[in-house]
Amino acid sequence: MKLKLAIQKSGRLSDDSIKLLKDCGIDLHNVKDRLKTEADNFPLEVFFLRDDDIPQYVEDGVADIGFVGENVVYEKNKKNEVVEKLGFGKCRLSIGIQRNENYINASYLNNKKIATSYPVIVEKFLKQNNITAEIHEISGSVEIAPGIGLANAICDLVSSGSTLFMNGLKEVETILQSQAVLIKNKHLNEPQQQLLNKLLFRIQSVKKAKNNKYILLNAPNNKLKEIIALLPGMKSPTVLPLATEGWSSVHSVLNENEFWDIIEQLKAHGAEGILVVPIEKMII
Ligand code: ATP
Ligand code: ZN
Repeated sequence: MKLKLAIQKSGRLSDDSIKLLKDCGIDLHNVKDRLKTEADNFPLEVFFLRDDDIPQYVEDGVADIGFVGENVVYEKNKKNEVVEKLGFGKCRLSIGIQRNENYINASYLNNKKIATSYPVIVEKFLKQNNITAEIHEISGSVEIAPGIGLANAICDLVSSGSTLFMNGLKEVETILQSQAVLIKNKHLNEPQQQLLNKLLFRIQSVKKAKNNKYILLNAPNNKLKEIIALLPGMKSPTVLPLATEGWSSVHSVLNENEFWDIIEQLKAHGAEGILVVPIEKMII
């Protein structure tokens, strides 16, 4: 029995999808120009598909699970379950209009024409905001639509905003924050679900490790109490005596979000020789 996973064949999510599997200890070989391949060291079969097709394949059970952008999941609106956010492929789906236009709120869009590859998501947004607008569906190069008189506004994926800028547009509304997620078929059998749980456990360990750093520092013993109080750690920090009298070495784990704050306070409390090391996996 193998779990069947669908990932994007070639595009923005491909490398990160393969990298995530690798970080989970799952090696794929022959990924170039293949429709499918098998993992060496995990009962996993991987299909390489267009991202737009992944929700349908998962709904049909051709694949059991898939890695795909939330934007595609919500646009395709298939009967799948979103199981886990994967932490890559981050972008947002935004409304853009011509830079010289005045925009106060979404009512600007009333009676306007919006070009997008995401008609379902845009329709829902318009409904929620009681706006009547015409949606013009196009499959690519959406950002040129206002410039050539095809539409007054666009709705497209944005990461830096430079594509909008280069086309004389400005971002005025974000409708969806998106990242790659793991979706699953709703009718997995027990052995399939067990394999998925095993994979999920690894994915969660990799994600946790990415958000955390291992920190080592030297602390004068008379400040040890205050310094330890600053460190959350997994349980409590490890404290080892140093060869130099009156000093200890303290080891702990810090979350990325609170990282710089805590480092500053540690220094202020007399910590020295602070080392910060990446963590490969974190099993808790
Ligand atoms: P396919 O040939 O598989 O249909 P595509 O051209 O539709 O590919 P890509 O441009 O490779 O898709 O984008 C895949 C996904 O990457 C998007 O659906 C989105 O979730 C994510 N993504 C992240 N950043 C961006 C960005 N700046 N622009 C577009 N997509 C992004
Ligand atoms: Zn696509």
